Amino acid sequence: MNKNRITYWLMIAIIMVTVGACTEEEGPNPNVSVITVESKTQNAFDKYLDEIYRKPYNIRFMYKMEDIESDMDYQLVPALYENSIKMANLVKYLCLDAYEDVAPDGFLEKYFPKMIMMVGSPAYLNNGTMVLGTAEGGLKITLYNINNLDVTNAAALYRYYFRTIFHEFSHILHQTKDYSTDFDKISATDYVGGSWDDAWDSGSSLEAGFISDYSSKETDEDFVELIAHYITNSEEAWAEKMEAAGENGSAIIGEKMAIVKAYLKQVWDIDIDKLRASIQMRASKLGEQDLDKITIE
Ligand SMILES: [Zn+2]
Repeated sequence: MNKNRITYWLMIAIIMVTVGACTEEEGPNPNVSVITVESKTQNAFDKYLDEIYRKPYNIRFMYKMEDIESDMDYQLVPALYENSIKMANLVKYLCLDAYEDVAPDGFLEKYFPKMIMMVGSPAYLNNGTMVLGTAEGGLKITLYNINNLDVTNAAALYRYYFRTIFHEFSHILHQTKDYSTDFDKISATDYVGGSWDDAWDSGSSLEAGFISDYSSKETDEDFVELIAHYITNSEEAWAEKMEAAGENGSAIIGEKMAIVKAYLKQVWDIDIDKLRASIQMRASKLGEQDLDKITIE
């Protein structure tokens, strides 16, 4: 092969690489029509979502009206664009990054739900209960009420969004590998099933050993509610709750928490106290975060 020929092949190779690199963004390429259509409608936020959710975790962060049209059980309003940006940054910062701090490599990539959907309005059940979030088969988490997002109120962030995320994600974990049946025995005769929302006077579920009214529905809900509440309460706030639970309630919750902690440690190599510390530390620095950013620094 003479020198000219080498140059020729080199040039072809360079052109191919260049063309290859361009198709995804600029198109049109008849062979990749789907990708082309998607990239044409991609705004700067979509590209940012690709960088922080899709590429590292293969997660689709959905915030557009067309994404929620299939969900017609409720009258739903799309999420405000600005609030969707804030939530994208918040979920990354307060949830994914917190797990990254303490979980083994590859944990989120493998087990975290693949779709997170934003809905602007709240959703209500026929009985008037506000739906905070739903999860479908561990694949998709839907967060409602995004248009009332208040990023200055950590308690509200936990209540309306993050406890839901931690709750649903924890379902995936126990559905993947179940916890000890010893857990089921602790409150075995006290679960109330579907009447959880009117079975308790204020505070009485806590005294009976349930961290929330919803915990009393059945064992799986009890298990994931404990995780979600534990990591969204500081050590002091948790101690206050146990105080309020009284001797009986706190003993029961303590017994359950011992199983929860051992399960997360042994099965998933996650120290729940470190996870809580990471979330609490992050929440305390929330005010320093730029939640409106749509570019990677
Ligand atoms: Zn649940």
